[in-house]
Amino acid sequence: MKTIKAVILYLLIAAVMFTFVSFNSEVLHADVTIPETIKIGLSYGQTQANLFTLESETGMNILVLENGEYKNLLEVKSPNGIKVRRDEYYNVVKGKETEINYVRAAKYEGEVIGPYHIQIGGVYEDLESALKVLKQVSSITQPVFLAYEGGWMVWSQLYLDESECLEQIKIIKKEESDISYSVVHPDKKRIQIIDGTTGQLMLLLNSEEKIKIVPKEAKGKVSSLKYKGKKYRGCITMQSLAGSDITLINELPVEHYLYSVVPSEMPASWHIEALKAQAVAARNFALVTMERHNAYGFDLCSTEHCQAYNGLEKENSSTTEAVNATKGKVITYNGALISTFYHSSSGGHTEDSENVWNAKTDYIRGVDDKFSLGSPYDNWTVELDKTEIKEKLAQSNINLGEIRDIRILESSRYGRVTKLEIRGSKDTRIFNKEEIRRIIGTRLLKSIWYTLKTDADVFVRGSQFNSTERGRASHMHVLSSSGKTIVKGTGNKITVKGMNSTKSYNVVPDKYTFDGKGFGHGLGMSQYGAKGMAEAGYNYQKILEHYYQNSKVQ
Ligand SMILES: [Zn+2]
Repeated sequence: MKTIKAVILYLLIAAVMFTFVSFNSEVLHADVTIPETIKIGLSYGQTQANLFTLESETGMNILVLENGEYKNLLEVKSPNGIKVRRDEYYNVVKGKETEINYVRAAKYEGEVIGPYHIQIGGVYEDLESALKVLKQVSSITQPVFLAYEGGWMVWSQLYLDESECLEQIKIIKKEESDISYSVVHPDKKRIQIIDGTTGQLMLLLNSEEKIKIVPKEAKGKVSSLKYKGKKYRGCITMQSLAGSDITLINELPVEHYLYSVVPSEMPASWHIEALKAQAVAARNFALVTMERHNAYGFDLCSTEHCQAYNGLEKENSSTTEAVNATKGKVITYNGALISTFYHSSSGGHTEDSENVWNAKTDYIRGVDDKFSLGSPYDNWTVELDKTEIKEKLAQSNINLGEIRDIRILESSRYGRVTKLEIRGSKDTRIFNKEEIRRIIGTRLLKSIWYTLKTDADVFVRGSQFNSTERGRASHMHVLSSSGKTIVKGTGNKITVKGMNSTKSYNVVPDKYTFDGKGFGHGLGMSQYGAKGMAEAGYNYQKILEHYYQNSKVQ
């Protein structure tokens, strides 16, 4: 028995050691691979699109994904591009179209068009055969257009129901009897692609398929697609996902994405070494955050939630130079890519990761950041009254009743508030770390490095008159000629009689004043600090290795 136990124990130790060793070697030999392209979500989820235009000065091609490969469907030459909308019911009044929930019995001003069509002929493998049929029937029925659903088809009309289709089929059969005709029933996932110049319906597609729009290349021009007022490099894919309308994704090379991110995240006029540090931090951040929006089929969104990305027109020659000069450069810790969190300005000292978020990260430690001083956010003050705070809490579905008091219970060694207590008439709650910033608003409460004053603060002097402590009158013991009482009240005042005058003070605070430092979470690189270091002669590697402790730029 003893030997068996010993063998089992030995095997267990060996297993633990093996796991340990293999884990280590994995980290040491980690290959940092940078994907060629990145997918940025432009419209998804709540901001999904059902009517939009895509424009390209150089023209564009429409492709569809089939058996793992993109098939080129059509070329669009119009500089006004295409209009995309659902194949639905529309009410057309004075040339303006509005999507409607069609009710047969209802009376509509203007014209109503619908999603019933007539298929003319069969399904063709090549575009040419479909175009031949289209030409053949275009004199007898209008509008007539192409449809693609695994094969080319010729469809006509925008009818309201099946009977309208059947009547029309009777008429055109007399003119052209050699071709077959059938009714196309509505499909919620079908979309119309309309020529931006002529306004004519070009093509109907099933939006559950992955559709790709690629701008045409032209000499001396950066080809781009314009969507919602912004031009984007690369291509745009669109697809309807389950339970969602059309999701639009901009797919482009990682380095081209950074051309727009760096000036969106840091002023392009700043020192080139600061811009290079930002470029590397943004590259790392993108690479380690890639899984964030997997559910919608893309890597990162275009807002500050991931990184601000504003397309081609935001690009600037100096930030592009910074991206090019650091091409492929990343920051690692123990051979693995790090999460390069960055923020605007620390206020003088950055913070340990666990005091802001939960995880303790070895390379995100509080470091001196005097280089950031002189930023517009060195010191700030926010005054909030108790009803404003109550409303902010309500917006986050927190009801503590009337706000009676707020106190700082715990701070980090650098001064950031890690525990804040809010007492209400109904309940008391402790807010940890960044929690309260998200409730109050991250632009209002710029950081969690603050002190708190109220209009009910009293100062208690020690017996030696050499120490003063800030406190509240509420619940203090007061000695008077009639005995010892406790100061109480909700909004009531206490009156203090001095030798020459009488003053009244709040017992319960009405106003809370936050005196703070810095802007942002205070973790990793401080952008104003990077600017200060660059101006003081440090290069981007030195800047990054200062803010991300023990990490390496490679
Ligand atoms: Zn995001």
